[in-house]
Amino acid sequence: MSSKLVLGRIAGIKVALHWSFFLLLPYLAFSSISSDGSFFSFLILTASMLLVFLCVLLHEFGHALAARRYGIGTRDITLTPIGGIAQIERMPDKPMQEFFVAIAGPLVNVAIALVLTPIILLTDDVFVWPWTGLSGQTGLAGFFFYINVMLVLFNMLPAFPMDGGRILRSLLSLGLRDFTASRIASVLGIIIGLGMIAYGFIDNTFLIFIGLFVLIQAYSEQQESALVKEFSESLAAEYADDEFHYYGDPPAELTPELLDSFNNARYLLFNRPQQNEADDPLVLIDLNLWRKQNPPGKRQSGYRFNHFSAPIVAPDQAMDQVFRDMRKRRRNFAVVASETAIRGVIDLPDIFLEHSRQR
Ligand SMILES: [Zn+2]
Repeated sequence: MSSKLVLGRIAGIKVALHWSFFLLLPYLAFSSISSDGSFFSFLILTASMLLVFLCVLLHEFGHALAARRYGIGTRDITLTPIGGIAQIERMPDKPMQEFFVAIAGPLVNVAIALVLTPIILLTDDVFVWPWTGLSGQTGLAGFFFYINVMLVLFNMLPAFPMDGGRILRSLLSLGLRDFTASRIASVLGIIIGLGMIAYGFIDNTFLIFIGLFVLIQAYSEQQESALVKEFSESLAAEYADDEFHYYGDPPAELTPELLDSFNNARYLLFNRPQQNEADDPLVLIDLNLWRKQNPPGKRQSGYRFNHFSAPIVAPDQAMDQVFRDMRKRRRNFAVVASETAIRGVIDLPDIFLEHSRQR
């Protein structure tokens, strides 16, 4: 079952709602009960919320369309109760491209606010919007303006994972090493996340959730930047795990007995059948994963296994470059091989896990 409800496509980009989006309904019902309890106030609150998410959606399209300019696709834009996420296929390598992709979102909201300003001034903001969240009476245009200004202020906080953090990182990485720039932006994110949670307990419950999200994202980015620093001082061979078995061409049938017979191997490597020019030459089966998914009792009733495409890297290749390439091509595994022999398997999820355990 998918955790998303796809609404449709706009400009070729899928727009979806995360299931947790529907948690907003009881929240809205509760909020209207605690104001005056009328159905009218529920409708106004709901419409206000939809307007907020419309602005969020336009913001995310800013990121997605900027990325498209650099030839980077977007898998989807997902709306969650705490904001939108444009699933951009990869972050651009060049700092200035990252800068433009990051700033394009807030710029959309700046543009909307600029368009609204003369409308508010000229019409005296006559289209009444009876939302009670702002002090005093505000019109519809004023409410729209307020949403967009708030979105800009929030997103421009100079801390990862906010857009401002990405902008800061891209600017810092013009003069500093990548991992140092990431580290600064992510540590700021941890501080701001903690601050939001603390402030949320005093004033605004919703902020606790946003703070938690910021904290988790910033923490994992900080972990990754520490690992990338380690990579920058290492060669691919140092991360090669030699618990593999190279089987050559895949057998006609991959039976559970055959897979089980590679007792001590963690990874099983096969030549890729019917190779295209662009394909990785080897495919890999993670036997640990396979054993987990197919416990002994279940193995008679057919079996499942995932295989992964594995690019080949030279033992003396710089590990940070290998890591960047793997990320870019969305590979979790790579095979380290010289011209004469396979040396081992680079298993990124495993490396991340080991790294987080050491701390
Ligand atoms: Zn953004």
